[in-house]
Amino acid sequence: MGTSANTAFDVVVIGAGMAGASVAAHLAPHARVVMLEQEEAPGYHATGRSAALFSEVYGGEIVRRLSRASRDFLFDPPTGFSETPLVTPRDTVFLVTAEQDHLVDAFLAPADLAVSTEILDATATARLLPILKPRYAVRSLIHRGSADIDVDAVHRGFLRRFARAAGRVVGRAAVTRIEWVGGSWIVTTPQGRFAAPIVVNAAGAWADEIAAQAGVSRLGLQPMRRTAILVDAPRSLDPRPWPMTIDLEERFYFKPDAGLVLVSPADETPMPPCDAQPDEYDVAVAVDYFEQASGSAVAQVKRRWAGLRTFAADRSPVVGFDAQAAGFFWLAGQGGYGIQTAPALGELAAALVLQQALPDFAAVFGITRQALAPDRASLVAEIPT
Ligand SMILES: Cc1cc2nc3c(=O)[nH]c(=O)nc-3n(C[C@H](O)[C@H](O)[C@H](O)COP(=O)(O)OP(=O)(O)OC[C@H]3O[C@@H](n4cnc5c(N)ncnc54)[C@H](O)[C@@H]3O)c2cc1C
Repeated sequence: MGTSANTAFDVVVIGAGMAGASVAAHLAPHARVVMLEQEEAPGYHATGRSAALFSEVYGGEIVRRLSRASRDFLFDPPTGFSETPLVTPRDTVFLVTAEQDHLVDAFLAPADLAVSTEILDATATARLLPILKPRYAVRSLIHRGSADIDVDAVHRGFLRRFARAAGRVVGRAAVTRIEWVGGSWIVTTPQGRFAAPIVVNAAGAWADEIAAQAGVSRLGLQPMRRTAILVDAPRSLDPRPWPMTIDLEERFYFKPDAGLVLVSPADETPMPPCDAQPDEYDVAVAVDYFEQASGSAVAQVKRRWAGLRTFAADRSPVVGFDAQAAGFFWLAGQGGYGIQTAPALGELAAALVLQQALPDFAAVFGITRQALAPDRASLVAEIPT
């Protein structure tokens, strides 16, 4: 490509995980878009490491609204998006131990949580989860209507849509330099330089680093490691019908995964952006919680992995143009919810990039531009100096 920048683009998207792929798919029919990914294949980082849960009762208020707004897309995708279903129904259950019983009222304080969950007594909980040690849970809260997401199918669907609209993905294109020159961002990678008046920062754990490269103020986004392991269910039990099971205080969770059980210690270890690897301590904590809840010993950890969930200080995603830097767009801070919210976030982000009206679902679900904006009060107050 030589030293001159490729100027054939209206938008450069940095990062081809779920965030980049979803916004790029919505942008490509309206703009010339290139998506730059540092890895050889998209989906190597957070997107390829999730627990694949869709639950409208998981996460903070804005996240829950975004998840509800994503529901129709995931359960009834547009024709041609995927040959296979994007979701498989699986209820979510929050376990309540005797020590946690006094926390239930506070948990159910948000009206949407109260109306969309049902309380099960100890007997009904045990029937649903025969894995539990007798008397482990005094009751539980069940949300019906959640699901396992086929993350790969969603991600591939967005990438395919992008490609069909003549979008271009460039792999092994780690962005090393971003400069604002004469009304364009010049983005430098080992695969060449790309210029466009708009850059979309969908770099996941690296989003603040991308801002720093562009001379844009960081937002104080914090990557936090989360670990997951796969173990056998006790031999006499078939885990497949079990719900996604989350400790009321989210100290751990487990769910069936292809005949095995995925267990996470729900760790949140702050760390710099990196190729996160599981720590033995967190693996041991996961095993310990599962053994405590089930009363049976884990013979072997079959697989272990970790990934980074990246949060803004108020734990809501950041979507919008930077208030100070022209053409610099944030799509970051999806935390532990970037898969289940991607359909809504991708479409919202594309409308904002194109300076169009927000899609109708925003008003229906009460999602405002300001709630997601990078200069919202709950973020600005928290940015480290
Ligand atoms: C253990 C675990 C469980 C989770 N469970 C769930 C769940 O059940 N449900 C849910 O909805 N979410 C879940 N999540 C969260 C979800 O995985 C993330 O929110 C989502 O994947 C974020 O997508 P992303 O595209 O922003 O990030 P990523 O997938 O990390 O993509 C960012 C991309 O940017 C690229 N990049 C970075 N810097 C550069 C650069 N300089 N140049 C070029 N490219 C660059 C990276 O290589 C990467 O591919 C979980 C996460 C973890 C770790």
